[in-house]
Amino acid sequence: CSLLRFIHDAKMALQHIEDDIEQDVTAVELSKAIVNNEMTLAFQPKLTVQGLILSGVEALARWHHPTKGMISPGVFIPLAERHGLIDALTRHLLEQAFKHKRTWQQYGLRFNLAFNLSPLSLADIDIVDWLCAMAAQYDVPANEITFEITENALLGELASAIRTLARLRLKGFHIAIDDYGTGFANAQQLSRVPATELKIDRSLVHRAAARPQQQTIFASTVELAKKLNLSTVAEGVETREDFQVVVDLGVDLVQGFYFSKPLFPDDLLTWIKTGLSQ
Ligand code: C2E
Ligand code: CA
Ligand code: CA
Ligand code: CA
Repeated sequence: CSLLRFIHDAKMALQHIEDDIEQDVTAVELSKAIVNNEMTLAFQPKLTVQGLILSGVEALARWHHPTKGMISPGVFIPLAERHGLIDALTRHLLEQAFKHKRTWQQYGLRFNLAFNLSPLSLADIDIVDWLCAMAAQYDVPANEITFEITENALLGELASAIRTLARLRLKGFHIAIDDYGTGFANAQQLSRVPATELKIDRSLVHRAAARPQQQTIFASTVELAKKLNLSTVAEGVETREDFQVVVDLGVDLVQGFYFSKPLFPDDLLTWIKTGLSQ
């Protein structure tokens, strides 16, 4: 038994080493990947808690490296940010996302598209004109687009970020505060952000049923969001128990593996069709 245990542990350790090797990519590879179209998007459904209707999808970047396999956005987004590649990457991905949205519209499918913006992109107000131009080019209405910004992004360069977000909001785009609960934004800071949606981080949502303290924080976060007139999204709902808490707390939308993983466009269409025929 202990030998089996040892072999298992050794295999796991090796797997971690292999993962690390795979994830070891350079900025040069990343810039080539953008040009060579190795970057794609997966889309994760966001559903209404009441009735489980598809409300929208969140676009999540995927990098299929020709020899190293799938690289996690948790690796290459920070890499892009450190090496001045985030604007090029964001523009490349946003154009893809809008193209998909236009295709769905042509199929008669209307749902919101959420897109993650790096805090670095908010420093420059010119991004607003570019985003508007792209939305017009791809015939995508601003009020069907949500830009997701992490809570932490709103703590640093607050003034310029808020100016950009306010302008985007004025143009009709929706703004979501992402990963809420991982940073230290207080209610006052939160109220200054021209947001429409609060995405409650998985660390507050997942397993809340078995953790009273966590559930209390989750509940008060939902309450705060409601007072600030923000719609609420629970992220990282993985189990039926997670979902039950979400229902009990009166959260508006859900997202998580319990409902669907992020899906490539063909799989998303299959997922939607299957859901509609049920
Ligand atoms: P995020 O914006 O918070 O996205 C949600 C992450 O949680 C995604 O990881 C998603 O696959 C994962 N997830 C969804 N449901 C569940 C669940 O039930 N359980 C668990 N354990 N995980 C779940 P992913 O795709 O690896 O992305 C990681 C992060 O990378 C994103 O976190 C976002 O911050 C960043 N990212 C991804 N795509 C982009 C992008 O196009 N631009 C920028 N700036 N950042 C991106
Ligand atoms: Ca997000
Ligand atoms: Ca998030
Ligand atoms: Ca996150």
